Amino acid sequence: MKAMVLNQICDLRENDAPLELVELPIPIPDERDLLVRVSACAVCHTELDEIEGRTPPAHFPIVLGHQVVGKVQKMGGKVRGFKIGDRVGIAWIYSACGECRFCLEGNENLCSDFKATGRDVNGGYAQYMTVQAEFAYHIPDIFSDSEAAPLLCAGAIGYRSLNLANLTNGQNLGLTGFGASGHLVLKMVKRRYPRSKVFVFARSQKEQAFARELGAVWAGATEEESPEKLHSIIDTTPVWKPVVEALKNLAPGGRLVINAIRKEEVDKDYLLSLDYPAHLWMEKEIKSVANVSRNDVAGFLELAAKIPIKPEFQEFALEEANQALVELRASKIRGAKVLRIE
Ligand SMILES: [Zn+2]
Ligand SMILES: [Zn+2]
Repeated sequence: MKAMVLNQICDLRENDAPLELVELPIPIPDERDLLVRVSACAVCHTELDEIEGRTPPAHFPIVLGHQVVGKVQKMGGKVRGFKIGDRVGIAWIYSACGECRFCLEGNENLCSDFKATGRDVNGGYAQYMTVQAEFAYHIPDIFSDSEAAPLLCAGAIGYRSLNLANLTNGQNLGLTGFGASGHLVLKMVKRRYPRSKVFVFARSQKEQAFARELGAVWAGATEEESPEKLHSIIDTTPVWKPVVEALKNLAPGGRLVINAIRKEEVDKDYLLSLDYPAHLWMEKEIKSVANVSRNDVAGFLELAAKIPIKPEFQEFALEEANQALVELRASKIRGAKVLRIE
């Protein structure tokens, strides 16, 4: 099968073709596995973190990609709930132990044996991949393959972030950063918390205009003061300035949720401008979001099909994965980027 593999960690600013097109054997499914013929795999910012070593792959070469849609081609003898030809999705959670306290409590995303698709095991930048049936999802018919793929990460993690934001209907929500996940969260809020007002902080005027178009009551620059205090803010940026600047806009007892697997080091000194009385006092809190559970993925897919939420996307061939990654690095975002795999 054709696959785009990463052979080593590198700096995308110096190497604009980190992935290599290779021929690999088609993986063989175990008794609990599905063999999936991949048709679409969306490109995620986390892949940049993997390539540049902020969350390094478990082995090399590795096939990246954790927003995978395809059809079941073969399956092991112990698989239940799927049949050959079913359309399935595979997300960031590839597996968890199923036995620890976190797994038993439904927080399998915190399991110490959590394995991530496309980082700890081969993912979807390839014609085929295997996954345990218990970690695959039926894709609602309303979505095309390319529409469904980006929902599997940005949407699921946005769904988890919104749950962790601890919002009730009518309370103000802020979003700092307005990329793939931010704009899906805004659409979810409209449905789940129709009386809540959403305030968006974004670098570019274009993103701010897009946020207003989607129903934000206010949109401004990262460092601006919002016209009203906010009960919760979700940060989806890769850097530190938005974290510090968001805290001043929180109401007493408010919560900032950081939805980022890693933060970049470039502006870490911005943290020195943290002012305790303005930013943290009055029982403000900060919480991170780690990974996703299967409930997040399944819950989001169900909600997205009902609303419905359909992401905008731009398609690339598998062989063009490097180009898609470089454009993502340069923030050339026109909706999600999806690899179409023949
Ligand atoms: Zn992702
Ligand atoms: Zn566990």
